[in-house]
Amino acid sequence: LYADHNASAPLRPEAREAMLKAMELPSNPSSIHGEGRRARGMVERARRQVAALVDGDPETVVFLSGATEAIAMALQARQNCIFRPLATEHAAVLAAHGFDEQVKTIPVDSSGTPQWPSDMGEEVLLAVQMANSETGVSSPVPDDTKAFTFRDAVQAAGKTKIQMAEIGANLICISSHKLGGPQGAAALIGRTTNELPPALIRGGGQEKGRRGGTENVAAIAGFGAAAAAAMDGLDDFQARTGGLRDSFEVGLRDFCATTGLECVVHGETACRLPNTSCFSIAGLDATTALMASDLAGIAISSGAACSSGKVGKSHVLAAMGVSDDMARGALRISFGWNSEPDDAGRLLEFLGKELPQLVS
Ligand code: PLP
Repeated sequence: LYADHNASAPLRPEAREAMLKAMELPSNPSSIHGEGRRARGMVERARRQVAALVDGDPETVVFLSGATEAIAMALQARQNCIFRPLATEHAAVLAAHGFDEQVKTIPVDSSGTPQWPSDMGEEVLLAVQMANSETGVSSPVPDDTKAFTFRDAVQAAGKTKIQMAEIGANLICISSHKLGGPQGAAALIGRTTNELPPALIRGGGQEKGRRGGTENVAAIAGFGAAAAAAMDGLDDFQARTGGLRDSFEVGLRDFCATTGLECVVHGETACRLPNTSCFSIAGLDATTALMASDLAGIAISSGAACSSGKVGKSHVLAAMGVSDDMARGALRISFGWNSEPDDAGRLLEFLGKELPQLVS
């Protein structure tokens, strides 16, 4: 049972098919022979598919190696600005180079909703994620801000409708592997081409001079196909994953109420992605719970920042004022395009069986 789509979604069959076709071509999209032109066709088709997912202009889509690169490219170009990221942004945003060590982050309340400062003029570079990877909490940008606004749409893309002109962003990024495409492809997308930053990696002038290096044609083709499939299936995705998430949370609360366990669903009062549930149970150690779930063939995640296998306290939950004890017991479940109707029930069955032993 795979319920860790926010970490990486399984490859969609449409993406796999597009990649296999691309990998069969011996080609460089910059070559002018027939093979090269076919590869170029695949890259440009993917550009249109990715743009369509966010109702944007294909001319403003720059293909890159991952959202981490897109974030670095977007932010480093504006080092002369006052950088104000949300406290709950992804580490790639918070660790952006070139700004003061002590970046003043925008605080959030206990539901994860931003507490906007009043000073957000033209000199500010604002970074406001469209949805948080750990809690799924999403937040709009205030209408009246004059700040140049970068929105990390990695978790929102394919899960909610995005219209580039409506989301208060100058630039956004999306990542292929979070929506069922392969890893190693992403896009930085501008509201207009004027808003796109200069190249971070220079080279042979690819991507209209904005990203040097031969395009990863297969990954880009897979990304495009995944974006198209995500867009076609958006209503179904929302209904199915939202149903699973809600029935999971109802079952979890019932179980905790009958067994006397203290349980909190993080961000439950805020606007959230339909597929994500992040919850804490008092006295639970998330690392031990993850080992037990893995043994049971269930892939979920801890709510804690987890990289290279290390589990630390989540900066997201810390920013929301969650106590150390509750943060230690935070787990995240994220459903996705291939989740099965009985996934919520199976997760509840597992928790019902194992939780009493896992709580100290
Ligand atoms: N932003 C968010 C919200 C994410 O969840 C992730 C992935 O964990 C990233 C950025 C980085 O994406 P990538 O793996 O494509 O570098």
